[in-house]
Amino acid sequence: MLSSIAGKSTIVTGGSKGIGRGIATVFAAQGAKVMIAARGKEAAEAAVAEIAEAGGTAAYTLCDVAEWESVEALVAATRDRFGGVDILCANAGVFPQTKLIEMSPGEWDGVMATNLKSSFLCVKACIPAFEAAGQGRVILTSSITGPVTGFPGWAHYGASKAGQLGFLKTAAMELARYNTTINAVMPGNIYTEGLQDLGEDYLETMAASIPLKRLGRVEDIGHAALFFASAEAAYITGQQIVVDGGQILPESLEAIEEI
Ligand code: NAP
Repeated sequence: MLSSIAGKSTIVTGGSKGIGRGIATVFAAQGAKVMIAARGKEAAEAAVAEIAEAGGTAAYTLCDVAEWESVEALVAATRDRFGGVDILCANAGVFPQTKLIEMSPGEWDGVMATNLKSSFLCVKACIPAFEAAGQGRVILTSSITGPVTGFPGWAHYGASKAGQLGFLKTAAMELARYNTTINAVMPGNIYTEGLQDLGEDYLETMAASIPLKRLGRVEDIGHAALFFASAEAAYITGQQIVVDGGQILPESLEAIEEI
């Protein structure tokens, strides 16, 4: 049993859909006060309403995590609303699939800004709040794609997700003076709105290649993030955990067919 995160002010970027919504739901169920950040109003409102209906505390701020001013405003709004920031879940990300031959420099820059630069911007913006609180927790949503595996069309995405892990290691050293830890969750294939956009064929092929024979649930990532946010994880920093149902384990097609 983990100690409670009740009352902790928590920012979840990309909390309006998919994995972020799962993190927001899991944290709110544990009593955290959750600030959801996303660009789209409708989904953010729906996520907040769902948490409120379940008896939790949540609000939203419209934010583009790729823009410094927008991220600064998100942190200011969270401090105003909940009195500080204790936990940052930097989760928002995009995964357009484009082969290198067709990828424009602009698309590369856009993916890097939303997925990687955003980690820097969100962490930087939260440091004064962590310093004021005398503690902090940061959980990044990386991926198996990039740090561990490759997939055609995701060179920019994979680079951004591997980049988050590079950022993590030095950030962990710099955040230590604020009694703040930073760790990353590396999801495999999790059933989200974003993943559904990739089509039924993709979803079926992926599920078949996972030893546990199912796509992940958003709560699977929410619970891993919850551990990193807990008091019990206070001595873990600069680390990463794969949450993928064993997807990266099979050495070959035969290996997965054997089980
Ligand atoms: P999703 O269902 O498409 O949801 C993405 C969330 O991020 C939405 O709330 C979206 O809201 C928000 N977002 C996107 N761009 C944003 C921006 N510039 N500023 C603020 N918010 C933004 O995606 P997901 O599948 O849950 O993925 C979430 C994270 O998990 C990503 O970092 C992704 O790389 C990672 N991941 C996912 C999987 C998977 O299998 N699903 C696997 C590995 C890693 P708006 O569009 O309204 O802004």
